[in-house]
Amino acid sequence: MPEGDSIFRTARALNKAVAGKVVTGFETTLAPLARVNDDAPVVGRAVERVESRGKWCLIYFSGDLILLSHMRMSGSWHLYKVGERWQAPRSAMRIVITCGDVQAVGFSIPVAEFHTARSLERCAQVQELGVDVLSAGYNVSEAAGALREHKCANPDAEIGNALLNQRVIAGIGNIYKSEIAFASRVHPFRRMQTLSDGELELIAEIAQRYMRANVAEGKGAGIVTYTGPRGTTGAMDRRSRLWVYGRQGQECRRCGAIIEMRKQGTGARPTYWCPSCQPAVGSREARS
Ligand SMILES: [Zn+2]
Repeated sequence: MPEGDSIFRTARALNKAVAGKVVTGFETTLAPLARVNDDAPVVGRAVERVESRGKWCLIYFSGDLILLSHMRMSGSWHLYKVGERWQAPRSAMRIVITCGDVQAVGFSIPVAEFHTARSLERCAQVQELGVDVLSAGYNVSEAAGALREHKCANPDAEIGNALLNQRVIAGIGNIYKSEIAFASRVHPFRRMQTLSDGELELIAEIAQRYMRANVAEGKGAGIVTYTGPRGTTGAMDRRSRLWVYGRQGQECRRCGAIIEMRKQGTGARPTYWCPSCQPAVGSREARS
């Protein structure tokens, strides 16, 4: 699943390519979008800006029209020159926005809605998002406060699940969940009530640091948290640049213990940790 950083990069690339341009073509296979487009055509409007909020992508058109999309597991936006060969099958195309010689193509996008500024204000999934880890306004104490509130309301919730809860902090996905917990030396299955304010503060700080590092201008598409000696890792292989994610059965890069994996939460998302760097204080397994 794309994490907040890839949506952030997508929105930034779309913004660079089409903001300020007039839409010259619009095509969609999604009936609800097509209906809106029939009544209030997108063609002729200017793209005002493209931005991300958590894992949502928002394309603002002139005349109070906003295209809200969510990638879930498989969706993506690509940019092409008109006539360029697409990197995904035409059958996966859901939305094409053409601005002169540039095309933004949305493939396999499962959630897409047109909004006005007013209807967006009533869209609970967007309005209830927690503080966006990639927004300029992200503040570590505020995010730590959101984690503390979540802990008070859900003392038995596991921190790994709390990190994926977009209403607490928006933008963290399943890979970063494990990486952030590792860097914070917190076992991902620990219950919220066992976490100190200091640990929550550290988690809020590391979440921002990792996510920001991955959207720095000029960086490639890889998710990088582990930046150890190149001699021991193939720098081009994404998994070899992570501390624990995807490394079940391999040695911890910090202490040499064997990385473990277990599925977590209602989505049964694979979760990785080092049993030695991240002791199971207060987690269910510590009690059993
Ligand atoms: Zn370790």
